[in-house]
Amino acid sequence: MGWVFISSPGFILGQDGPPINSENSSVQIDFTQSPASNDQANVVSTSQGLMPLRQDVEGYYVSGIESIPLINSQPFMALTPVAHINNYHPGVVSILLRFSSDQVVWSNWQKVEKFHDDDPAQPAFIGNMIIADSTYNYFSYMIEFKQVPPTSPIASVSHLQFNFFSPGNVTPLTASTISGTTIAGMNSECGCDLPAFATRADWNCPDGNNPSCASPDYSQVSHQIVHHSAGINSSNNWAAVVLSIWDSHVNINGWCDIGYNWIIDPNGIIYEGRGGGNNVKGAHFCGKNTGTMGICMLGNFENATPSPEALASLNKLLTWKSCDANISPTGSSYHMSSSQTLMTISGHRDGCATVCPGGNLYPLLPSIRTQVKAQLDQCKNGSTHIDEDLIVSNFRVFPNPNQGTFQVYWESEQFQQGDIVVYNSLGQELHREIVQIYPGIYQKIIRLGNLPDGVYQLRMKTPNFDLNKKLIVDTH
Ligand SMILES: [Zn+2]
Repeated sequence: MGWVFISSPGFILGQDGPPINSENSSVQIDFTQSPASNDQANVVSTSQGLMPLRQDVEGYYVSGIESIPLINSQPFMALTPVAHINNYHPGVVSILLRFSSDQVVWSNWQKVEKFHDDDPAQPAFIGNMIIADSTYNYFSYMIEFKQVPPTSPIASVSHLQFNFFSPGNVTPLTASTISGTTIAGMNSECGCDLPAFATRADWNCPDGNNPSCASPDYSQVSHQIVHHSAGINSSNNWAAVVLSIWDSHVNINGWCDIGYNWIIDPNGIIYEGRGGGNNVKGAHFCGKNTGTMGICMLGNFENATPSPEALASLNKLLTWKSCDANISPTGSSYHMSSSQTLMTISGHRDGCATVCPGGNLYPLLPSIRTQVKAQLDQCKNGSTHIDEDLIVSNFRVFPNPNQGTFQVYWESEQFQQGDIVVYNSLGQELHREIVQIYPGIYQKIIRLGNLPDGVYQLRMKTPNFDLNKKLIVDTH
């Protein structure tokens, strides 16, 4: 079997702490170069890689014993498998792994799940990160080809890459050892505080509190997206898990920084994810990230249940951001980037093909929205609770589609001052005007000038409500 080690044990200087002895190393296997020779059934080696001899019966290939190429893993090892599979379809090809300390006693075979937050444009099959015991020295893998109709395009596995990571000397974090209280670009006038969080330096991000992306992108957040990690449900070092996610996102997925804006562990500790401060754009919503803030709850909530501590932290974070960005937590609005109307607090599955955030977390979202709204009403500066629907109703735009000039119409029961803002599909602000909203019926003509044909977002926003409409400019 043609395989090579790429080993880069590193001593990276931590931003604020001792040297971090994290380590990356990988085993790469090229099935196009050498024939398979291990335990197998109905699998053949070809110049395109391993493929089933006949598709109408199952096939499998079991590797020999491979050494784990880390010099010293602590406090555990994280493994992100990557497979290059031609004609991949979910379920047709599966990759399984098992581990051993001594080549005698082996762990159970563990199926590699697909990383659900990957970029759909990514051609390779990227596996969800696996956390394994630091005492393991060996692994082996199995490739299974499921039975499919003989006329299906033939799936073949050309390359496998097993990317190991040892987080190194990471101190587990508790509520008394985290140092984050504020981030750059926050709306400091909002009365709902950002809850205390672990800074990037606290969890030993190699770039410390600096952003890992050379030039981070920003967008006005209108939607908060809740994820789960679909990984382990217990750990005694969640900070090391967060660092491993950073490594997997940056070094395996090839993103410039960790995908999520925030991460929450089962003890309720909140971790700052992507660097760059408030409203930095992450990578977590099937490539439709403009206007979103991504929060990842650590755990697999297809089988476990989120802890009360984690849910309390999630509520606090959502309350802060709802206040900071003036988002109604129980409302819905048009999300330009995904071309869908979404609840302002949504699960990943609401916009992408995934079960995330899991069958035990997703059904909690309606009560989370209600709790966040109650908390927001309590802490928001100078605001008393007013039912939004009573303030402005019948918010309409016409004509729509239009040629860049249109009327907005609403009925209001109360005086408000606010803004009407128009954004393009990249979330960039194109037009803003202040509006005085008096009780009664109100109509206003807005002239945007010459805009390219396309879909825009119209937002009407006051301290008490936030309404969004899709605006279509069509000059033909
Ligand atoms: Zn997700």
